[in-house]
Amino acid sequence: MQNNNYSEEDELKKNLSSALEKKIDLLAKLYLERKIALDEISLILGIDKKEVEFIFTKRGLMKKKKMIVTGGAGFIGSNFIYHILEKYPHYEVINYDVLTYAANIENLREAEKNPNYKFIKGDIADYEKLEEIAREGIDIIVNFAAETAVGRSVHGKAADFIHSNVVGTHTLLELVKNYKIPKFVQISTDEVYGTIELDENKQFFEDSPFLPNVPYAAAKAGGDLMCRAYFNTYKVPVIVTHCSNNYGPYQHPEKLIPHFIFRAINNQTLPVHGDGKHIRDWIYVQDHCEAIDLILHYGKPGEVYNIGANNERSTIEIAKIILDVIGRPHSLINHVPDRPGNDRRYSINSEKICDHLGWKPAYTFEDAVPKTIQWYQHNIDWVEKIKEGDQEFTNYI
Ligand code: NAD
Repeated sequence: MQNNNYSEEDELKKNLSSALEKKIDLLAKLYLERKIALDEISLILGIDKKEVEFIFTKRGLMKKKKMIVTGGAGFIGSNFIYHILEKYPHYEVINYDVLTYAANIENLREAEKNPNYKFIKGDIADYEKLEEIAREGIDIIVNFAAETAVGRSVHGKAADFIHSNVVGTHTLLELVKNYKIPKFVQISTDEVYGTIELDENKQFFEDSPFLPNVPYAAAKAGGDLMCRAYFNTYKVPVIVTHCSNNYGPYQHPEKLIPHFIFRAINNQTLPVHGDGKHIRDWIYVQDHCEAIDLILHYGKPGEVYNIGANNERSTIEIAKIILDVIGRPHSLINHVPDRPGNDRRYSINSEKICDHLGWKPAYTFEDAVPKTIQWYQHNIDWVEKIKEGDQEFTNYI
């Protein structure tokens, strides 16, 4: 009798554990199909996210992946690293950055607490250094590393831009080719397409010609063309993205929105180039990270994707919005001579990523600008520190 009870109990346990295993397999499948988030799985199973990851990995449902994020100490790179570490606990992220004036390793202090995060100082044009990492086996490279300040490319050393944006990208492509790295995403800009006149009814599509007008855009275009060539010649699995102007936390204060915010906070004038009617298409950085995430997992090698939030604003409009939110008078707007080669308007068409990958921006400008202003108000020391450490800060704005 007792023996029978035991066997019934054992049978029940066996059935329950097999039901649980099936449930786990189904949840893992839904997770990999992006139909459910890890947070939800953790709630359903009543265990921590890390434990979910551990179980998925142990059962061979979730493969550990190693990703190099180059330029991860910069603005978008650091936001992207936080996005990946939060969303994919089975990803190891190596932040590979040479730490130029634009980098701020302080941005990653929180990430450093995560065992899946590692920083390696290095130049993307240094093949030997990159090889040391590639030998360990790399699944993905996302390349944010670049010289990015248009003003510095106009008034400073364009050679630095060629080094990072062209030679650096080429070096990474060689690495991807030689080490058969399965995925490479090249982060680029809408500035490669050149300019649109204010009265022109035109947009930039993925197949629009490259017509860069400043050394920064020309160097980015050079890197992007190299990606195209490496895909066509060697079938290197590269995807290129062209995103519009980003704003959000961790952006260097030499860039327009943080520069205006910081000056408005300090009751200083806001220097607006020329007549201030130049138009840029603005996207919140988190929306950009989400788009890269989708492209990385579901984009097609060899393809190009435009990313923009359909949010065109003139510089003068941006200045007024920031002054209004901070509560300063519009009389702080100060027109200064225009920058040579300053493009009049960018307008990016993002239908392809929306239609093919189901992306759409989650943030409106009206919500995300006050959020961004708040971040800078709470991080005044962060801005001050950057300005103190950058001797050339005001020369190129
Ligand atoms: P950023 O200037 O804030 O950061 C660039 C980072 O790259 C820095 O940490 C720097 O140290 C690093 N870096 C530069 N040269 C390097 C090299 N040779 N080797 C290793 N690291 C190097 O730039 P961001 O605004 O974060 O932009 C990131 C990428 O996104 C760039 O490729 C840029 O062209 C592209 N992009 C930016 C925007 C924008 O509005 N910021 C819009 C579209 C595309």
